[in-house]
Amino acid sequence: MLTVDEHGLTVSAPWRSSERRIVGVIREAEEWVLKKLDVWSAFPARSQSWVQGDKIRYLGRDLSLDLTADSIATLATLQDEDRLRISLADPGHQDSVKAAVVKWYRRHAQSNFTACIGEFAPRLDVPLPRLFLSSARTRWGSCNAKREVRLNWRLIQAAQPTIDYVVIHELAHLIEMNHSRRFWKLVASVCPHYREACAELNRMGLYYMDI
Ligand SMILES: [Zn+2]
Repeated sequence: MLTVDEHGLTVSAPWRSSERRIVGVIREAEEWVLKKLDVWSAFPARSQSWVQGDKIRYLGRDLSLDLTADSIATLATLQDEDRLRISLADPGHQDSVKAAVVKWYRRHAQSNFTACIGEFAPRLDVPLPRLFLSSARTRWGSCNAKREVRLNWRLIQAAQPTIDYVVIHELAHLIEMNHSRRFWKLVASVCPHYREACAELNRMGLYYMDI
C-alpha cells in the first residue's frame, strides 16, 4: 500500500513480500506517486496567521484581512473586492478570526452553490436537487439517489469556473451514477473547461482543504 503525505512516500507491504513485488507495486503506481509528491512539494503546509493583513483565498483571488474591534457583534463584509473587513470583540484572538472567516465562507458558499445549481440543473435537464454544505476533508462533492447534493464549503476559495465544474460533476451523477465515457461526455457538454478545473483542484486542493 502506498501513501504520500508531507513525509514523502511510505510503502507498507505484508511481511515477507519480496522486494521485487514491492518494486513492482511502486512501478505500477509511478505516475500517481509522482503526481502526489508534486502536489505536496508545491504546498508544504498552509500557514495562516489570522492577523491583520493576512491573505485568504476567495473565488480564486486573494483577500487581505482587515480586523477591527467591535464589542457588539461579529461582522464580516467584503470591501473594495480585495479586503475582508471583520469586526469582532477581540481581533487579537486568532481562533475567533478564523471562526468569523469560516462563517463568512459558509454563507457565501451556500448562495454561490445554490445559484450554480439553479443555472446548471436546467441545462443538464435534471430536477433541482437539495443542497447541503459539507465539511468532508477528502472530497469536494457527493450526491445520492435521494437527489441530495453535498458540496464542500471550502470550494468557495476556488475560482468560479472550478466551482461550476464540481457542481456540474455532481449534477451529471444524478443522470449517470458512474465515471463512464458517457458521464464525461455529459460533463463536457455544459463544462468544456473541465480539465482545467480538475487541474486547479489537483494543484490547490490540499491547500483549500487545510482550513
Ligand atoms: Zn464523480
